[in-house]
Amino acid sequence: MRQVGHFIGGKHVAGTSGRTADIYQPMDGSVIGKVALASPAEVRAAVENAAAAQPKWAAVNPQRRARVLMKFLDLIAQNNEELAELLAREHGKTIADAKGDIQRGVEVVEFSLGVPNLMKGEFTDGAGPGIDIYSLRQPLGVCAGITPFNFPAMIPLWKLGPAIACGNAFILKPSERDPGVPMRLAELFLEAGGPPGILNVVNGDKEAVDAILDDPDVKAIGFVGSTPIAEYIYARGCANGKRVQCFGGAKNHMIIMPDADMDQAVDALIGAGYGSAGERCMAISVAVPVGKATADELVKRLIPRVESLKIGPSTDSSADYGPVVTKAAMEKIKAYVDLGIEEGAKLVVDGRDFKMQGYENGFYVGGCLFDHVTKDMRIYKEEIFGPVLGVLRAESYDEALKLTNDHEYGNGTAIFTRDGDAARDFASKVQVGMIGINVPIPVPLAYYTFGGWKRSVFGDLNQHGPDSIRFYTKTKTVTARWPSGIKDGASFVIPTMG
Ligand code: NAD
Repeated sequence: MRQVGHFIGGKHVAGTSGRTADIYQPMDGSVIGKVALASPAEVRAAVENAAAAQPKWAAVNPQRRARVLMKFLDLIAQNNEELAELLAREHGKTIADAKGDIQRGVEVVEFSLGVPNLMKGEFTDGAGPGIDIYSLRQPLGVCAGITPFNFPAMIPLWKLGPAIACGNAFILKPSERDPGVPMRLAELFLEAGGPPGILNVVNGDKEAVDAILDDPDVKAIGFVGSTPIAEYIYARGCANGKRVQCFGGAKNHMIIMPDADMDQAVDALIGAGYGSAGERCMAISVAVPVGKATADELVKRLIPRVESLKIGPSTDSSADYGPVVTKAAMEKIKAYVDLGIEEGAKLVVDGRDFKMQGYENGFYVGGCLFDHVTKDMRIYKEEIFGPVLGVLRAESYDEALKLTNDHEYGNGTAIFTRDGDAARDFASKVQVGMIGINVPIPVPLAYYTFGGWKRSVFGDLNQHGPDSIRFYTKTKTVTARWPSGIKDGASFVIPTMG
């Protein structure tokens, strides 16, 4: 059985804490490996390695740092099939979807290749008599990323790409459920010429995370995961004086206006609601049709599409989606469906009893569809993170907008309409970070920034795009005057340029 340890200082090291977690293969429910859970001493060893390597890496000019990342991208491309297969095996998503997971991560590393330009400061010539002012961007030192199970390539790459490009050393604490790809990324970075200690992977659970949060040499932490953990990490990391950004859970609404192209809206809901078994922070989990006629038509069209979803093992290239990540996740999703019935929502497609022939122990949940969900129900308020779509009928656009705005989460949302005025109004007034207009999963491309609002985020700066460079660097501003410049004697008042 595969044993996964840690990757510290450019080497694989076995875990020494004596604690491990099982790694499952969700498609058949088997245990395929064990991952070590790091102790605080193991985290400390990784931080010490990172801190020792970082100053030299920061002194490498940014163009050369970018070249190492370029080679890293080449190696990811060369090993794409193997990485996608490993990712799908541990996570459960289909191989085609796993390739998308890798690709969206690669795009952020590609953005980071522009670091010589992105890290440039500003310069003012002659800000005063003989005085120039300029600003510098400098790396923070050792940064850490704590990442979720659902995008085991994309989110680690969103964190480590810009952090390392900016001259930091990085400690990645990936999800203990699918550590295989993060470990391969660390190997490939080394093979690409990345110095030992610049990219370390420490596997673990709360104990490792707490050690990262409390380590005085970790200067910044980027977290992605569920909201309660995001809030905890933000509070403890900030209390320890670190720069912290935490991206949390979601309940993404899709508004369907009476004038929407219904074929387009139904296709969008099927893909965005059920793709990756609904285990995406940008999945659509609530459909909000406006008006009874729109709702009736939508539900009528959705039912046969949900019933005919093709679920399969991750290796089945014709499957729409695969199993969910663990047995516990499967049970939790089914319990939410039970709860929805108790709460009075109408379950119009029931996927709870789905069994995958030949893979009876796999963690499968068939597509479920609820109609007549209301805003006081827990299945509406809470994140289910499974292939369960709820339809909440609104009487007007204003009601649909208010619903979206009143929800505690504000990660992504979409409006389907042909009415430019309604779309513009929605984009302007909705209290959500990422908006789609006839686009159901509006994940911004790498050169824009990614982040939600409300309790989907804790912190100020978004992920990737220009904000990632701001997050992983500190600014210094220099005011310079030379002895040959104007001498105006000692001054006892606050200097002004007026
Ligand atoms: P999770 O919160 O359970 O775990 C995330 C990370 O935190 C993992 O590395 C895990 O080991 C660690 N962790 C778990 N419990 C901890 C604890 N008590 N103390 C300290 N660390 C702990 O999330 P998950 O189940 O891996 O991922 C799914 C969640 O992530 C969903 O809520 C989803 O919406 C969210 N997500 C958000 C975004 C976003 O950008 N907003 C993107 C992807 C996923």
